[in-house]
Amino acid sequence: MSVDKGTFRHRQIDTYDFHSGRPRATPWASDRRIDRYVPTHCCYCGVQCGMYLKVSGNEVVGVEPREDFPVNHGMLCPKGATAYQTVTHPDRLTHPLMRRHGKGSPLERVSWDEALDTIVRRFRAIQAEHGADAVASYSGSSMTNEKCYLMGKFARVALGTRHTDYNGRLCMSSATGANEHALGIDRASNPISDALHADCIFVIGSNVGECFPIVTSWLWQARDRGCKLIVADPRQTPIARTADIFLPLRSGTDSILLSAMLNVIITEGLFDEQFIAARTVGWEATRAMAEQYPPERAAEVCGLNPDAIIAAARMYGRANAALIYTARGLEHQTKGVENGLAAANLALATGNFGRPGAGYMTLTGQGNGQGGREMGQKASQLPGCRDIDDPEDRAYICSVWGIAEADLPHAGYPATLMIPAMLRQEIRGCFLICSNPLVSLPDQQTVAQAFGGLDFFVVTDFFLSETAELADVVLPGNTWAEDEGTVTNLEGRVIKYNQATEPPGEARRDWEIVCDLARRLGKGEYFPFRSAREIFDELRICTKGAKADYWGITYEKIDAQNGVFWPCPTADHPGTPRLYEERFGFPDGRARFNPITYLPPAEEPDDEYPLILTTGRVVYHYLSGNQTRRTPFLLEQAPYPWVEIHQEAAMRLGIADNDWVTVRTRRGEMTAPALVVRSIRPDTLFIPYHYGHTQAANILTNPVFEPMMKIPEYKVCAAAITRADAPPDWASEVDPELLEAARERRHELPSASAKPMPTFQ
Ligand code: SF4
Repeated sequence: MSVDKGTFRHRQIDTYDFHSGRPRATPWASDRRIDRYVPTHCCYCGVQCGMYLKVSGNEVVGVEPREDFPVNHGMLCPKGATAYQTVTHPDRLTHPLMRRHGKGSPLERVSWDEALDTIVRRFRAIQAEHGADAVASYSGSSMTNEKCYLMGKFARVALGTRHTDYNGRLCMSSATGANEHALGIDRASNPISDALHADCIFVIGSNVGECFPIVTSWLWQARDRGCKLIVADPRQTPIARTADIFLPLRSGTDSILLSAMLNVIITEGLFDEQFIAARTVGWEATRAMAEQYPPERAAEVCGLNPDAIIAAARMYGRANAALIYTARGLEHQTKGVENGLAAANLALATGNFGRPGAGYMTLTGQGNGQGGREMGQKASQLPGCRDIDDPEDRAYICSVWGIAEADLPHAGYPATLMIPAMLRQEIRGCFLICSNPLVSLPDQQTVAQAFGGLDFFVVTDFFLSETAELADVVLPGNTWAEDEGTVTNLEGRVIKYNQATEPPGEARRDWEIVCDLARRLGKGEYFPFRSAREIFDELRICTKGAKADYWGITYEKIDAQNGVFWPCPTADHPGTPRLYEERFGFPDGRARFNPITYLPPAEEPDDEYPLILTTGRVVYHYLSGNQTRRTPFLLEQAPYPWVEIHQEAAMRLGIADNDWVTVRTRRGEMTAPALVVRSIRPDTLFIPYHYGHTQAANILTNPVFEPMMKIPEYKVCAAAITRADAPPDWASEVDPELLEAARERRHELPSASAKPMPTFQ
């Protein structure tokens, strides 16, 4: 698919070596005629901005934003504007690699036959000796729906293992738990354009300006129309600077803040009795719970002024239509599900569902953070958000797949619990695709032991990630530009990537690799797919009648409508942009209140570790940085991590701006430059998590999990900080010019404000 937009010549791009950060000897040059413009979407965050890829021959050489896509209207953030540079990047994996002589030997180029036959032989040997569940599948949510679906089927049907999970466990699982328990459907309740109908938007635990930059424009448009903005975050993020009320709460205290706001809403009669009576159950218990949390009590726990909580509750409660946006700040906690339920309580109590501008949206971080959690690659799930332990769901999926119910494994370990299972040698082999746990999981030293200790480890990716460096076999897959397929954005809108070019060298499309492996494992009859479209058509059947119903969605309909919101149960159904207009997703159609008792984070500051460490993203990088750290412009802006610390704390500890500092937690330590600001709480440190090896923030984070969904507590642990005696080893490996430039640029980072945090007037 392409459109005619004339011709264009593209500029030269310089690039850096991924590991040393030094400029490459030969600049990466591109001065090419544009042959076609392929309409598609950005490969990064859940906004999924529309873009054209500019193609010259079989090379993607540029990008242009799409005006016609109703989410970004011709805008892209720095990541989207440079995403095309990954496609022809000189680091692309272009042939299979294998350690022919076992662990410790180098990765060598091998043929596809040798790589795939070795994988089959080694996985079979492990399973013959230790059982089918000794091999696990670990996948990702930056993949298309087709690939996510395929991975769940591959694990259960081709490998026959119950252990399949994905990196959305680290991202969206608290949101899933909250959505399912409160509302009955695991999707954002509104299209993003509903921001323009809201009188108040409450952003809690979401650095919108950096993680979903294009959403900022919707918030600003809403503000222009008179919408009030409340932001709660331990850091004065870019969006917080424009808020009517900013609540700089202590990390890990979200639910008590939300319950205290509900308390005020009850006390002042701002709740919607009619809505509660007609459309919900469980109000009385939740009301009684909220009465235990007056603003004064919450203010003490959250480190806030009680008047600010009261003012925020009034602003939210008096709005005719209000939206709540949450993201990982609220969800990356051992109380992540409870925090989400507390947010849903607030929206339900005020009748804020089922109308324009009224709802509760969990913003998805990964490109397919929504679809990836619906397609059956999760430990306990079958396609369409079906339950793997539900007899009817099992019977239906088995009938589509043509397998006996006895051959469909039951639930396995979530991704976070695969690590201890690897250490126990219960899991001995792993097939991992499009994920980088050697950067993204907490307590990195333990994670490296777990993956490094596997008998046999296979990674499919298009760059040699930190995780792939540990693999026994590395298979070169495709970027998003080299295949077609669907993705479901943060609104629940199913959109489509269109293929621009072929994978380079011997690299293959991921779904072709997986289907080839399935054939070699003797299960080819279940994987007869010749295109992504054929996988999508089977996926549609699997979701028919399920909560995440894609049955009425086709590639043609997506093109014609610029995306289709699920559920879309029939061919003539237009899709469902706004949920809950008539009923919630439970059999009785009513939403559930959930009383939440506040409990503190798993680890709180003490004498030895007196500060709170929180981690997160910056605008220039995406997730583990495997792609964005290879993109010249993005690397230049933020080439290595830093430690954000408040001026007061820095002065007390004798730390000056740019000093090398060492942060210690009970898991380990890391050294990075200090960034002294006034836009973070004085009791809190922040480190961006996009870096690997000794630069990984996750060396420090706490491997404790939310009890139901097993998401790690990335956003709060106890930490200590001191001035470092010497720079870390990695500093001597980074290009000095890049190091110096970054030192100057750090104060220009969007969140690095020298302005003081506002105090409530
Ligand atoms: Fe849009 Fe997100 Fe891509 Fe930025 S990273 S261009 S906001 S989809």
